[in-house]
Amino acid sequence: MSDLDPSQLDVETLAIRTAQLRTDEMAHSDPIFLTSSFVYESAAQAAARFGGDEPGNIYSRFTNPTVRAFEQRLAALEGGERCVAFASGMAAISGTFFSLLAPGDHIVSSRAVFGTTNVVFDRYLKKFGIETTMVDLSDLSQWQEAIRPQTRILFLETPSNPLSEVGDIEALAKLAHDNGALLVVDNCFCTPALQKPLELGADLIIHSATKYLDGQGRCLGGAVVGPEKLLEDVNGFVRSAGPCMSPFNAWVFLKGLETLSLRMFAQSERALALAEWLEQQPGIARVHFAGLKSHPQHALAARQQRAFGAVLSIEVEDAAGNRDRQAAWRFIDATKLVSITANLGDVKSTITHPATTTHGRVKEEEKRKAGVTENLIRIAVGLESLDDLKADMSRGLKAIASA
Ligand SMILES: *Cc1c(COP(=O)(O)O)cnc(C)c1O
Repeated sequence: MSDLDPSQLDVETLAIRTAQLRTDEMAHSDPIFLTSSFVYESAAQAAARFGGDEPGNIYSRFTNPTVRAFEQRLAALEGGERCVAFASGMAAISGTFFSLLAPGDHIVSSRAVFGTTNVVFDRYLKKFGIETTMVDLSDLSQWQEAIRPQTRILFLETPSNPLSEVGDIEALAKLAHDNGALLVVDNCFCTPALQKPLELGADLIIHSATKYLDGQGRCLGGAVVGPEKLLEDVNGFVRSAGPCMSPFNAWVFLKGLETLSLRMFAQSERALALAEWLEQQPGIARVHFAGLKSHPQHALAARQQRAFGAVLSIEVEDAAGNRDRQAAWRFIDATKLVSITANLGDVKSTITHPATTTHGRVKEEEKRKAGVTENLIRIAVGLESLDDLKADMSRGLKAIASA
């Protein structure tokens, strides 16, 4: 790998071969440097390290070899100059805003972002004089109208959670740059295996590594990828404010990245087949999934993604025609295989009722605008067999077919 040109290698290869750690023991698997601090040969060397005259490790809040390997591998996958790891996806999101923004600055954000991201905008950034305007992800004119002279960041997730709306990254990058702002994309749902926002003009990518980068629901982590000139400050924030990634978690993510492409394509394939099947079933009023030909932005998703991802949502209707919470809960409670949990990105399929879980704290008005209705159910498709997943969904359908 050391004498191969990374720009000539595919994402699948980079995920396995970038930044392999090797000690004198020559272990084939990456070692974990599970240490808080590092030692020096002499007092003079310690002074040189602390003074910045000699490069090298000091303390794991500043640098850690396992965390650095994860950062280098994810940067290579996204095609970015640099990556800074965080303790969680939310730490990456809030840390990026706190590093790059100042009082008086303005953000324009898609309203269809992760629920807690809304809390950061609404409660914390606002407290420091940073205002956010929410717009509909797919309506370019709303983004345009929301921009002010103080706008510094345009922020989105695509496809969105839970309705699988798609944002046009290339068009929004152009809009941001024409107005002196940055485009920041939360690429959690696609990962670089399926979507490369930097190639489409985005400035920064944010990840919750907790989801598909881990892939098996074990650890919390987050990351930001982008150019050196923007990430210098973000890195400084992590070193000083302290929301750093644990080396143990970084090691789990290094392992997770090795199988990322394989999982993303296999899970996307199951999700598409399940969505197409669900669309034909009585009791399903609507399926939201960008992979379906019936999705209004199917063509855009097909252009900007390599596959459609593995999160879909359905609107259910019981035999009496009710499209309410009771129908949704009955469907969920009748399943036996999928896990009732709000997490996603796991090889285990999960099912959740967004209106009362992930979006439970979102104001009614915002919930309505975001399309999070009472009869909506989100399914994050894992790696169980398609037949077993269909059989499980059939249990839910049967439960709402008997009124
Ligand atoms: C889960 C999630 C986050 C937050 O990540 P944590 O690791 O839970 O802090 C941010 N964005 C998206 C799209 C997510 O799904």
